[in-house]
Amino acid sequence: MADTMITSMPIAGHFDPVPVPRAITPRADGRLDLMGLSTPQIRALLAEAGLDAKAAKLRAKQLFHWIYHRGVTGFDAMTDIAKTMRPWLADRFVIGRPTVVEAQVSEDGTRKWLLRSDDGQDYEMVFIPDADRGTLCVSSQVGCTLNCTFCHTGTMRLVRNLTPGEIVGQVMLARDALGEWPRGNMDVGENEDAVAYTADGRMLTNIVMMGMGEPLYNFESVRDALKVVMDSAGLALSKRRITLSTSGVVPMMARCGAEIGVNLAVSLHAVTKEVRDEIVPINRKYGIEELLQACADYGGASNSRRITFEYVMLKDKNDSDDDARELVRLLKQYRLPAKVNLIPFNPWDGAPYECSAPDRIRKFSNIVFEAGISAPIRTPRGRDIDAACGQLKTAAVKQSRAERERAAAIGNEPV
Ligand code: SAH
Ligand code: SF4
Repeated sequence: MADTMITSMPIAGHFDPVPVPRAITPRADGRLDLMGLSTPQIRALLAEAGLDAKAAKLRAKQLFHWIYHRGVTGFDAMTDIAKTMRPWLADRFVIGRPTVVEAQVSEDGTRKWLLRSDDGQDYEMVFIPDADRGTLCVSSQVGCTLNCTFCHTGTMRLVRNLTPGEIVGQVMLARDALGEWPRGNMDVGENEDAVAYTADGRMLTNIVMMGMGEPLYNFESVRDALKVVMDSAGLALSKRRITLSTSGVVPMMARCGAEIGVNLAVSLHAVTKEVRDEIVPINRKYGIEELLQACADYGGASNSRRITFEYVMLKDKNDSDDDARELVRLLKQYRLPAKVNLIPFNPWDGAPYECSAPDRIRKFSNIVFEAGISAPIRTPRGRDIDAACGQLKTAAVKQSRAERERAAAIGNEPV
């Protein structure tokens, strides 16, 4: 049987992390949730449950296909698994989804879901439809231990890493909601397995790890989840269509390139130590030079082209002509054939910044463009439902853990 212990994982930052359930934790009814597991992990569970090695191998392959390629949530639908075997599976396993607490649609078509884990933790995911693509913005943690001063998620005090099941579960739920599972039986031939989500008319074409949390502070779970998402026998999303955004966890960047291999986005946001120390505090630990060197080394020199630098436009803070010129100088110094995404600051209640004026952002963009570096201005999406970059923050965790414990001690329900 899988380990039932709850373990506390070390997460750097200012607040005590909430204990993280192990990836394979039995539910209250004793059954195990297969969501997020790889074929070898499913095989091991089947063997533990009593199947012989050969049967476990075959069944694991079939289950993986049904779960991630077909999107089924019940064993009865698995027509190539013997009828007598299906209740045996259903007695021991489930194929779960995160619980949807609330689903909202923005006037621009952006959708946001508030999700809840089995242990009552809330997190969000956002779907952004465009003319030529559909991007799912996936969370890696509940809250974030880092405290970037312009980011609403960074003000959440309660933090827990999401499990691979909770991360993959977001992609599965989005495909459920968009009605994008293949229909029909198994006898569709081998070719269908080769279909990747490219020009086949599906809405969900891209994934960005840009929801709540710092993905490189939850490296193993994010890696395992993305491997499942990329597996050609299942969801089969190409690594070129997945982007992981980091605030600059330098020691994990090489492993991200080697073990996941997806596109990297780096939240640079400032070009001087003074300003970056203030607005992206992880800079005090890993400075700009170290960060840009890690970018230059990412996935080998030839791959550094895949890096996108994100730069939030904060009025009178990081948006001067000098800042733009210094940005160009730094990117050239480290020979980064990079792209810069200029993100207009998305406001939230109590935020200590304003967004730069539109003509300031255009001027900044022009300076970078004229130096030969692409610097598009990102159109904010879903602002009206607080779904835009940096606006994610769940109401249910606005109190700190200590506050919740105090509230519980005096008999008040946490708000
Ligand atoms: N923790 C990761 C990924 C999540 S944040 C990271 O920091 O990279 C995704 C992007 O949104 C980051 O570039 C982040 O800096 C940016 N962002 C955060 N708050 C924002 C805000 N209020 N307005 C615009 N962009 C913001
Ligand atoms: Fe965390 Fe990223 Fe927000 Fe910074 S910008 S607080 S790293 S989620």
